[in-house]
Formats: sequence, structure tokens, C-alpha cells
Amino acid sequence: MKKIVKNGTIVTASDSYQGDILIENGKIAEIGLNLNEPEAEVINADGLYVFPGGIDPHTHMDMPFGGTVTKDNFETGTVGAAYGGTTTIIDFCLTEKNKPLRHALKKWHEKSEGQAVIDYGFHLQISEINEEVLREIPEVIEEDGVTSFKVFMAYKGVLQADDETLFQTLVKAKESGGLVMVHAENGDVINHLTQRALAEGKTDPIYHALTRPPELEGEATGRAAKLTALADSQLYVVHVTCKEAVEQIAEARSKGFSVYGETCPQYLVLDQSYLEKPDFEGAKYVWSPPLREKFNQEVLWNALKSGELQTIGSDQCSFDFHGQKDLGKGDFTKIPNGGPFVEDRFSVLFSEGVKKGRISLNQFVDMVSTQAAKLFGLFPQKGTIAPGSDADLVLFDPNKERTISAETHHLAVDYSALEGLKVTGEPVSVLLRGEYVIKDKQLVAEPGTGKFIKRAPFYKNSPEKKAASLLRG
Ligand SMILES: [Zn+2]
Repeated sequence: MKKIVKNGTIVTASDSYQGDILIENGKIAEIGLNLNEPEAEVINADGLYVFPGGIDPHTHMDMPFGGTVTKDNFETGTVGAAYGGTTTIIDFCLTEKNKPLRHALKKWHEKSEGQAVIDYGFHLQISEINEEVLREIPEVIEEDGVTSFKVFMAYKGVLQADDETLFQTLVKAKESGGLVMVHAENGDVINHLTQRALAEGKTDPIYHALTRPPELEGEATGRAAKLTALADSQLYVVHVTCKEAVEQIAEARSKGFSVYGETCPQYLVLDQSYLEKPDFEGAKYVWSPPLREKFNQEVLWNALKSGELQTIGSDQCSFDFHGQKDLGKGDFTKIPNGGPFVEDRFSVLFSEGVKKGRISLNQFVDMVSTQAAKLFGLFPQKGTIAPGSDADLVLFDPNKERTISAETHHLAVDYSALEGLKVTGEPVSVLLRGEYVIKDKQLVAEPGTGKFIKRAPFYKNSPEKKAASLLRG
């Protein structure tokens, strides 16, 4: 039952040091030099980094979209995640209008139960506000451990909610300890630009990007940030892609508002020109917000380095090129939105970030694990290596070189949007609560090994907010 990880370089968001880790009953029992425990299985981590397991706060597994369902479900999606060094995902649970929030949660529990090889939690979509929803928000926070709520400002007529819904969600979340997340794009104007493009016969994948310009992401980001300030609430902006949006987040943060931002590996290494690939291959790169002009990559790296953006999510949302993406041949609005990134999120950030000198090793851990744990109520159970924390560990070879390819990835989807990208660094073994999920690059865990994790309310991780809420009594 006991294990000792020996001789590795332990890396957290704050420290890097040589040490051994004693694991007992799924938890980290002790950290020290030359630990000895006769009954323990010894895992040699000589020459390897030992990271806390990655936390991906943004996935869509087994999710319906545009008349189809994502190719990867909670089994195949979490297998890919585990190979890539991620031990916890937080998935988006979609709600239906006129139905209780808990109806949607039940559905997501049914999809995921017995499927996942790593731990998982849920964010809950808020698509409308009424008496029932206002009553349920504190209940799902306190009783179901679902403490973050997503409002879509885009996808008009499908997922989009109006500003009143966003504002009331912000107010209610503030009262009850929730964190509000937004997909920030101006859906009304995008709808208009899209209809106009189609009427002009502009149907190729590139028009997906051209009808969703960065100004509309910046505008929605700024609007959400200002509504958050007015509500004195807290906001997490998912998949930030461009200068216009980064500026809005930076401005809100400089004024002291609780506004946080996430970006994704795809926006750091790909750009808008990929949507112009011939033979409809541009459809492989269709998701929202779209890929941007290349100069934005440097803007995003700088925002990560300076702390204006805090986390890296994958926005995993995979659709096969053959049979799913091609639903949009002749009409870019019918291309299912999304791409497969859960497996490579961790490695791409290490390779492009740490290896290329853009961020430090500790910043890397902060972005792929610790910050998400803190913001989403998982810390210190997850997101760090400390006595008492879950023994979710990644033993990582920092010098191994490989080329990303659909031939070798472990997801079910039929293509990789990062095909051919050379990366340095690869997880060798991955432990979840002290048990191997990946051992020497082989999957050894069964579906159902991963458990649903109830998360803590937002203010519990913010001493000032907690103090303030106690004072208000
Ligand atoms: Zn998403």
C-alpha cells in the first residue's frame, strides 16, 4: 500500500528541490531526504521531475453540439489526459431551459460514472435565471460540490444567455461562494456577421474566423469584467485568445477586481492561417473563439508570464475530421466547434514555455495545476505536493523528444490539430491518489478509477473574501 518516490526533483508552484515522497493510503504522508520505509514499493525518479498532477479546468467530454456528439467521452478523453500528465479535469455540464440544474448534473454523472481513469468535477452552465435557478445555485455549491458556473455570451439561439442572466448569476455567485465563468464573445454581432457572410456566398472555414473578429472578444470580455465589478463578484474568462481581451482583463485586475483569465495551448502555437488549409482541412482548426493572427501568441505568453492570465485549459472538444467536421462542407457555420487538446496541454506548455525560456519551471506548475486547484476549490487536496495532499504525481522526463501525431495519441478522435509539432518532455508515469494510472508509458488503470470530486466554494480559498464574508455575518 505504501510507495516511495525516490531521487526525483520535486517541483511545485513555489519550489524545486531534491527529495523523496512517501505515499500512504493515497495521500502524501511525508517529504524528506533519504526516506526509508521497508514495506514500501520504491519508485525511482532519478533524472525525472516530479510534478503535481495536471488539472485541466476546461473540457467537454461526451458533449452534444450541432447535431453530433464529441468523439471523446469520459473514458477515451481521460485516458488521453492521463497519458499527457493530467490527473483531474473539470468538465462543462450543459443545462436545459425549464429544467432543474440538478437534472443536468444527474445526466453528467450518468455519462461519467465508471468511465474515467482520472478524477473529475463539473462546472454548471447557467442559461436562464428564474426563482428555481436562484434557489438551486447555493444548493449545488453546498451539497453537490459544484462551485463554478458558466455563462455563454455567444452561440446566439443555442447556448447564449443575455446580460441580465450574466449579471444575476454574478450577484448570486458572490452571495453563495461561486465562481462565474464566461465564454466572452459578442454573440449578437457575430450572428449578424455570419448571416451576412453566408448571404455573400462566403462558406469556407476561414470565414469562421473572419466573422468572429478579436474586437468582439475584447468587447464581451470588457463587458463581463465591468458587470463583475458592478456586482462586486468574481469572474473567470475561459479561452482568452487575443490582445483585445487580455487588455480588458489586465485593466480590471489593475483596479483590484477579481477577474481571472485562462488561455489554451492552441492559441499559443497555432494561428488563423491554419483555417485556410486546402481541401476543407481548415475545418480541423474551427473552434470558438477562433485562432488569431500570429502576433497574439506573444501577447498571450507575456500575459501568462506577468500573471495577467493565470491558467491553461485545453478546451478539449473533439470531433472527427471524417464524419463530423465535414458536416460543415459548404457552410462553415455547420462545422462542429472544437479540437482535441487534453492530451498535449501539459507537454506543449512545458516544451514551448519552459524549454524555450518563456516561463519558469515553477510558473509552469502554477499554470497547469496549482492555479486551477486554487480557483476551483481543489486546493490543497490537489494542485501541489505537500503532506496531506492527494498523491497525484507526474514523473516527467524533461529531455525526451517526440513528435505529436494522431498516429500515436491516445484519444479516439481521428486527427491531431498539433500534427507534426515537436515537443521536448514527456510523462513517464502518472499516479492518481497513490496508484498508477500510467506506468512506464502504459495505461494500467481501469475505467472507473477516477472519482467525482466535490469542490469547495470560491471564497474559502480567498482569505480576504472569507474574512469579509465573516464580518458581514
Ligand atoms: Zn469550451
